Amino acid sequence: MPELPEVETVVRYLRPRVTAARVAEVHVRRADLRYPVPVDAVLALQGCEITGVHRRAKYVLFDFTERTVLVHLGMSGRLFIEPSMGQPWEKHEHWRWHLDGPNGDGPHLLRYIDARRFGALDVFENEAETRHPLLERLGPEPLGPLWTPTVLLEACAGRTTAIKQLLMDGHIIVGVGNIYASETCFRAATHPLRPAGTLSAAECERLVAASRSVLQDAIDAGGSTLKDFVGGDAAPGYFQQQLDVYGRQGQRCHRCSGLVGHCSLGGRATYFCGGCQA
Ligand SMILES: [Zn+2]
Repeated sequence: MPELPEVETVVRYLRPRVTAARVAEVHVRRADLRYPVPVDAVLALQGCEITGVHRRAKYVLFDFTERTVLVHLGMSGRLFIEPSMGQPWEKHEHWRWHLDGPNGDGPHLLRYIDARRFGALDVFENEAETRHPLLERLGPEPLGPLWTPTVLLEACAGRTTAIKQLLMDGHIIVGVGNIYASETCFRAATHPLRPAGTLSAAECERLVAASRSVLQDAIDAGGSTLKDFVGGDAAPGYFQQQLDVYGRQGQRCHRCSGLVGHCSLGGRATYFCGGCQA
């Protein structure tokens, strides 16, 4: 399942390839993705120019002059671009855009393939981004200026929830999935089961810094695989960075040489070093 670093990598891959391109044709083959696709609004993009691409949480957002197109990759979605050469539709390809340009390049095809159809495609007016039902209640971006130790400390106050679960709550902070939550707690030397309300300001500071560095490292790892997206099958893949604890139960801790432990928390696999994390 694509996590924030993968989505960021997809956005960085798309940006130079679609910015300033004109959408010449839109085809929607299936409108029953996770939410119904507003087909008329998507078709109305024909003739419009893409002015940029950005990301919010795990949503890819294509910018147009007046409208924004939201794409979610769901569990298995792939979004990629390739030179247009009359490619036949793939079995699980649900929509595609024919693009002219940018910069006088030949025609390209933007394709969306998703076997499980948990993805999303929506269109809204630019100024409605913060009110969109999928976006309005999201917490701050982990790499942005609004994610601070003070914000985390206030979110933790009085809470008995385990800190790992709180870090995975998208209303508090977006993009810290199950793998990154375990890794963040390890880097911050905080035990994942600690009740959030017991954390000190210093611990919140370490956790915010750790969440940033874990995700930034993952994005950097994705950037290093970016070149592979362009050649070959042209499909952005999902990558895995070097992990300290996730999936390493029973192996030696990279920091103290103790054994990495494992438990289930809220039904999710959770990994930690009992020697390093208090
Ligand atoms: Zn350790």
